[in-house]
Amino acid sequence: MTLSIEHARGVSELEDASAEEILAWTYAAHSRVALVASFQVESGVLIDLACRVTDHPDVLTIDTGRLPEETHEAMEMFRRRYPIALHVLTPDPDGVATMTLEHGPLLFRRSPELRQRCCDVRKARPLAHALRTYDAWITGVRRDQTPERAAFPVIAADPHHGGITKVAPLAAWSNADVQEYVVEHRVPRHALYGRGYTSIGCAPCTRATAADEDPRAGRWWWENGAAKECGLHHRPLTEEDE
Ligand code: SF4
Repeated sequence: MTLSIEHARGVSELEDASAEEILAWTYAAHSRVALVASFQVESGVLIDLACRVTDHPDVLTIDTGRLPEETHEAMEMFRRRYPIALHVLTPDPDGVATMTLEHGPLLFRRSPELRQRCCDVRKARPLAHALRTYDAWITGVRRDQTPERAAFPVIAADPHHGGITKVAPLAAWSNADVQEYVVEHRVPRHALYGRGYTSIGCAPCTRATAADEDPRAGRWWWENGAAKECGLHHRPLTEEDE
């Protein structure tokens, strides 16, 4: 089931609803829902909330092959703590082999275009392929994370993933809201937050940030002016996702 006219009535009412209400609607209105997690703090909040409104939610995460070990440890912490069905997606090995044969294993340092190609092969394509079997997906995106996310809708049909419903229950949350929830509900935290990281992705593309830096300054820090996005939210569907 994708976002329909009937759903739209409920959608406008949910724009100002709580994250828990938005999640409850999502699971009630769709039969196959994927919660997509990177195991940053927003993922933790969503998993904690989802487990309050549904049984054994499907959690999808992308193991790009370049993740820090701490992210695998975070996956394991959440698996033990919450009754989730964790699906670890991996990139197509032939796609990775072709890319690295052509451009080398550190292609992402050479240009924004090659970095985006790496993100596409390692992240966006595996997710696009997996979402073909779902009616809705949930993301931890917040509007104040990047300029590109400033108008991110809470609920919308996702043209980049076959028109399924895309839900961002934390769109209007601030970082302080997230931190408060994590403390109050004792949600597990990725270990790299304790080492100065404020946004966490693949190991070679993420560094700790200084107190006066933007929280996403540690992502692809060598790029000047390029959007700090990996393409999960803007990538068009291609035949390679079939
Ligand atoms: S974050 Fe870096 S290593 Fe990970 S997929 Fe993107 S470019 Fe490749």
